[in-house]
Amino acid sequence: MWRTVTHPICLSLLARESERRMRFPLSLYVSMGGYLLKKSLQRQDRYPLVLMLEPTHRCNLSCSGCGRIREYQETLDQEMTLEECLLAVQEANTPVVTITGGEPLLYSRVDELVRQVLKHGKHVYFCTNGLLLEESLHLFQPQSRFTWNVHFDGTEPVHDRVICRRGGFQKALAGVRTARARGFRVSTNTTVYRETDVADLEKLFQQLTDTGVDGILVAPGFSYEHLNSDMFLTRREIMEKFRHIRRWTRRFPLISNPIYLDFLAGQITLQCTPWGNPTCNPRGWKSPCYLITDTHYPSYAEFMERTDWDHFASGKDPRCAQCMVHCGYEPTVVRQLNGRNLLRMLRWNLNG
Ligand code: SF4
Ligand code: SF4
Repeated sequence: MWRTVTHPICLSLLARESERRMRFPLSLYVSMGGYLLKKSLQRQDRYPLVLMLEPTHRCNLSCSGCGRIREYQETLDQEMTLEECLLAVQEANTPVVTITGGEPLLYSRVDELVRQVLKHGKHVYFCTNGLLLEESLHLFQPQSRFTWNVHFDGTEPVHDRVICRRGGFQKALAGVRTARARGFRVSTNTTVYRETDVADLEKLFQQLTDTGVDGILVAPGFSYEHLNSDMFLTRREIMEKFRHIRRWTRRFPLISNPIYLDFLAGQITLQCTPWGNPTCNPRGWKSPCYLITDTHYPSYAEFMERTDWDHFASGKDPRCAQCMVHCGYEPTVVRQLNGRNLLRMLRWNLNG
């Protein structure tokens, strides 16, 4: 028996099987761990963890809660060149690159972009609304450093209402099933709004888990300046909903980390790390953060030098008052990892 399992092929199958059960691939922990160690040895205080790359804001949907297509309506037809995208990846030099938009499958050189970013040794999370997923799969190759991240905001009737497109849920789900069948890693992304019913989310997460997704990301929506809408939650409302949601970490493969979920449920307080997930798009480096825009800088160096980080990290800007979004607070969790938290995160990654 021992000889059987120590056979190199069996070992690699076992490693792949145990990696499949993890919320994040082992290789991501290794890359992130090495990166954090390097930054700490360099005594660097402010550094990014995940680059949010938006090669285009063009989209095939017009979701009611989307700030991006409204904020960038004048430049929806523009896209970054492949060279600009790769320069952004090089400048930020984060272990993880999230390719988002808009709908990034509409980017003219999308397959080449993914190939090149992976070639630079990065982990890629590719955010999509899923409408073009099935027909685009042939352009990509499955591998552990590449994950599709498909957007679902509720069960079928709820999701189709939020994205204003009947049939959108089934189309995206068909894409998820085919991607899984072809060996791709697939996670999903759900935004919680004021009208989100927690019981509906529970049904959705059960359905996604039964479909075999590798991870489910859930986070509260944010009241974009460009949307005059009362669909977004206050901090008090976020905490009420997430007191329920955080109980599901063992039932469903949630990939919103447990310490961030404690924060969302009001159990702990955290300060924002606004430089943790910098955003680059056709207008430049968006300052100060993924959510609010005061300006865009032409280079990453200028963005880091000229943004008033102390002000935004203090939470004193009135626009930050109700914000609890993952791109501001999950980097704080990673920065503050100590022995006890690290053990908890490792146990959680193994589904504990
Ligand atoms: S799919 Fe995404 S980018 Fe497109 S409208 Fe909806 S939220 Fe916005
Ligand atoms: S609290 Fe939210 S809005 Fe304010 S800087 Fe952080 S991420 Fe941006």
